[in-house]
Amino acid sequence: MPGFSDLNLRPELLKAILELGYTEPTPIQVQAIPLVLAGTDVLGGAQTGTGKTAGFGLPLLQRLLPHANASASPARHPVRALVLTPTRELAAQVEESLRGYAKYTGLRTTVIFGGMNMDPQTDALRRGIEVLVATPGRLLDHVQQKTLNLSQVEVLVLDEADRMLDMGFIPDVTRIIKLLPTKRQTLLFSATLTEDIRKLSDSFLNHAVMVQVARKNAAADSVKHAAIPVAREKKRELLSYLVQTRDLKQVLVFTATRLGANRLAYQLNRDGVHATAIHGDKSQPERLIALNDFKEGKVRVLVATDVAARGLDIEDLPHVINFDLPNSPEDYVHRIGRTGRAGASGEAISLVSPEERERLEEIEKTIRVSIPREMIPGFGMDSRSVSSLIPHAPHGESRRERGGDALSGSRRERPRDRDRPRSAPAQGARRAAAPADPIFLEPYRPAASQTPAMATALSDHPAARPAGKRAVQVAALLGGLRLKAK
Ligand code: AMP
Repeated sequence: MPGFSDLNLRPELLKAILELGYTEPTPIQVQAIPLVLAGTDVLGGAQTGTGKTAGFGLPLLQRLLPHANASASPARHPVRALVLTPTRELAAQVEESLRGYAKYTGLRTTVIFGGMNMDPQTDALRRGIEVLVATPGRLLDHVQQKTLNLSQVEVLVLDEADRMLDMGFIPDVTRIIKLLPTKRQTLLFSATLTEDIRKLSDSFLNHAVMVQVARKNAAADSVKHAAIPVAREKKRELLSYLVQTRDLKQVLVFTATRLGANRLAYQLNRDGVHATAIHGDKSQPERLIALNDFKEGKVRVLVATDVAARGLDIEDLPHVINFDLPNSPEDYVHRIGRTGRAGASGEAISLVSPEERERLEEIEKTIRVSIPREMIPGFGMDSRSVSSLIPHAPHGESRRERGGDALSGSRRERPRDRDRPRSAPAQGARRAAAPADPIFLEPYRPAASQTPAMATALSDHPAARPAGKRAVQVAALLGGLRLKAK
């Protein structure tokens, strides 16, 4: 495996990454860096956690190095590289990484996203910057206000393009691309390389070269799964009981809806369990405060919807509780992707009402794990309902033998008040479809280890942004490659 010194990176960049503790390039970096340096368009199949930001960031900065200058004149610092991300948190994270890599280059970076005052962003743009990381909506707002000129962009990066697609951002992205010079380098990264992503790549990229890194399997073997059968109306009581009697700290609880998240947090507080809800209705500062309180242990339970939880940069979370089972098995995988990382043990408890039985079975099929049922005295249902939740045949082996039918189960529409905008009709959003990812067709192999850091992001949905029907999306929270930090 080549080292960083074999990748023809300039000393300014090597110095910065050495300081960051990067000693060896990750596989996506080995593959992408030479291509990006050569000016090639790249279609990258890699999820957050694989080191893809440096994979495109380092060569991108190197290509811009000739433009670096110390002039105070904004005209000498036009935007030359634009990185679009679907969410605010990812934008912030990517810019932070790029800023670190650019430390000794003299190139300026900044980030702009919705939910924050535009003025400081406008000031930064006016002063001039070479590398801009942005979410599409806020970027267009700045374009409209004429605080941003994109006519000198040389490199465009579309990060987590699958999520942009899912979230209905492609019309905005198309609008943005029309503002860029046609002669440019375009890099598109996506956790999954589905047919839709390839089509996007065909329309936005030019003779792109594809690079891809493998993803870790769905369910970490360090995660202990449990399903507790309970009547729907007793779930809240059971949750309080579990948190208190098992003395659970730092519990991330998932609900299906924002309303449900709010209500549950309120009720838990009433039960004496300090809880807060985090979802797309809350402002960005509110969410960051909630997250901080949770990380610092001031709040014991964080109640989240799937979309909101994508932005939570939390590692090694010991407990994830599914108050509502997710509608798609892939969301289950996303949810538990937060526990059991880096060898830490994690626990994923699902509170399962009789209505959710089918969903539980679909999850078991997908992750190829038979989730043990656990009965909690005092919270049982009548024996008929309970027996309906006990699997007739063990999952896993028998299903596997029948031949990888992980994707054949029916999918339901999500409830209307899920954590997404409802104002506009779905534009450019994919319909829920079975993911064509071969990972789900392969036999279950427990992951040997999990990535140390995996932060994805949450929705950047100002209410007016076009809504997208939630399409099935796979495993953005799953482990990427184990990164060596010496
Ligand atoms: P990314 O997938 O770009 O979000 O990166 C995931 C994490 O891995 C970030 O915390 C990076 O700082 C870190 N990282 C990226 N490349 C390397 C490397 N070559 N060695 C060690 N850590 C890395």
